[in-house]
Amino acid sequence: MIAYPIDPAELIARIEQEKPGWLARARDRKDAYAQARAYVEGGEFWGEIKGVYIALQHEKCAYCEMKLAGKAYAAKVHEVEHFRPKSRLRAWPGDIKRLKGYTPPCATGGASATGYYLHAYNPFNYAIACTRCNSSLKSDYFPVRGTRNFREEDAGLLRSEDPLLVYPIAGLDVDPAELITFIGVLAVPVHAAGPLYERAEVTIRFFDLNHEDLTTRRAEVIAALYLALRGKELAADAADIRDFSDGIARYLSPATGFSACAAAYYALYQKDRSLAVQIGREAQKLLPR
Ligand SMILES: [Zn+2]
Repeated sequence: MIAYPIDPAELIARIEQEKPGWLARARDRKDAYAQARAYVEGGEFWGEIKGVYIALQHEKCAYCEMKLAGKAYAAKVHEVEHFRPKSRLRAWPGDIKRLKGYTPPCATGGASATGYYLHAYNPFNYAIACTRCNSSLKSDYFPVRGTRNFREEDAGLLRSEDPLLVYPIAGLDVDPAELITFIGVLAVPVHAAGPLYERAEVTIRFFDLNHEDLTTRRAEVIAALYLALRGKELAADAADIRDFSDGIARYLSPATGFSACAAAYYALYQKDRSLAVQIGREAQKLLPR
């Protein structure tokens, strides 16, 4: 995961520009849900502003950081994810089969027949996610350490719930890089204990961030970055050095898939060259032949 910084007012302005009138309709819809004290299914229109988030997130999933297809022909590939589920909540890990026997490091909150209905049309409750992370894994789960608050309308103030997952947009939450880093292809908590460790541990488990469907893709990035770093070292010609430098910069850019993993590998390469070389070679072996 990486942070997608944007001034909140700028995000609102982009939404108004993308779909004039959307914000007013969203306010009306929120008022209706407030009166009903529930989310009422039907006539959803959050998809109309999807393009704002696709651009902000460089076409990447908010959680696994996979680069998705371009928006021109593949809008369906990008799902509008409600960070706080709108209609109901299931207990996590509950009866999720793959997490059978797993004990979270802290309280994770219970189930609820009510969801965060006041945030169904809150732009600060949206992110773009892939089908894997949004539909298969996130679903109606939203683990919190504290007490759920279905009445608060300000997404920023909902941090008092002590959520365990991280909202990466507009600086409303900690930078994911403060929680999760990478050793080679593996996502690991930055801290060894404490609240930030707990958030990292739950987020890694929740999104199954070390499943091979992601580690093999991260291996492609590390293998390529390793070759670019080595190439730059060995190159004698100024033009070659510039080409390798450009390649390295591209892998580290937030616009590239798995850039958080690339950044961690780059840092390791500066700090512990022999371990980085070893990991770079191991990454080559993980690639399909
Ligand atoms: Zn994803």
